[in-house]
Amino acid sequence: MTAGETDPLQLILDRVHARLQGETERGSVADYIPELAHADPGRLGLAVQLTDGRSFVAGDADEPFSIQSVSKVFTLTLALGKVGDALWRRVGREPSGSAFNSIVQLEYEQGIPRNPLINAGAIVVADVILAGHEPREAIGEIVRFVRFLADDDSIRIDPAVARSETRTGYRNQALANYMRSFGNLHHEVDKVLGVYFHHCALSLSCRQLARAGAFLANRGRLVGGGHSVVSEERARRINALMLTCGHYDGSGDFAFRVGLPGKSGVGGGILAIAPGVASVAVWSPGLNANGNSLLGSRALEMIAREAGWSIFSG
Ligand code: GLN
Repeated sequence: MTAGETDPLQLILDRVHARLQGETERGSVADYIPELAHADPGRLGLAVQLTDGRSFVAGDADEPFSIQSVSKVFTLTLALGKVGDALWRRVGREPSGSAFNSIVQLEYEQGIPRNPLINAGAIVVADVILAGHEPREAIGEIVRFVRFLADDDSIRIDPAVARSETRTGYRNQALANYMRSFGNLHHEVDKVLGVYFHHCALSLSCRQLARAGAFLANRGRLVGGGHSVVSEERARRINALMLTCGHYDGSGDFAFRVGLPGKSGVGGGILAIAPGVASVAVWSPGLNANGNSLLGSRALEMIAREAGWSIFSG
């Protein structure tokens, strides 16, 4: 490429954004957390962070949004750092094939959630991070970790979103109480959910999210600095969980269409990883029937195809 030419990746993002921007079928914004119902379904942000340090964005890529369940990737990483493989005595590693907030399997499986990326599993992960701390300290640790990953101290939790879910999170309270009854939560339910609701309320832009997730594309190392966040093996395993479990009962379809590990959130964000190459963050608040961003999934499908990124191609 010579000076003055636009990078092919920028052209891809611009093209995808232009194609999807006018789309009228955009899914529905989550409203079971009242504060999320205010999101504008017209928004669409795209960001790519390459492992070589370059980054590209299109659309509303600098607008912070509620990352919700995408944060489970970061809390899982933290919890593995604290207790390592002992985590797998309390959480499984299998796709659930059911909704993100489903309770049905918990009874059959004695309070052990199927995986750390469904709500029940992430609530156990929050319990692990809480050990030895007050909720405020555990929340602080999570925020500091995400700021470190993104190299951006402006990242914060949206207190209105956290409050809104604390008031209305009946389903998560049921999941947490149920697991506590099996002895799989070690702290009081209110404290564990305090940590969980707050990390779900982290606000990041696509640009920040792509950067925060880039260690997963870069063999566990920060892009640029070379600082190791997790071992190469651990990064690989987190990616495997994202591929098999990151979109709940839509995980198979996401793997089929996009072919990359990904984690969605009901705020409409998705983080996808092209191992060795790039971390991609997309945001569009309208969701499909599985609670995953409708246009976000389509955008990733187009970006992955046009850039030739798939973990399944030789
Ligand atoms: N905080 C949300 C909840 O617990 C996260 C769900 C999601 O993003 N899928 O319901």
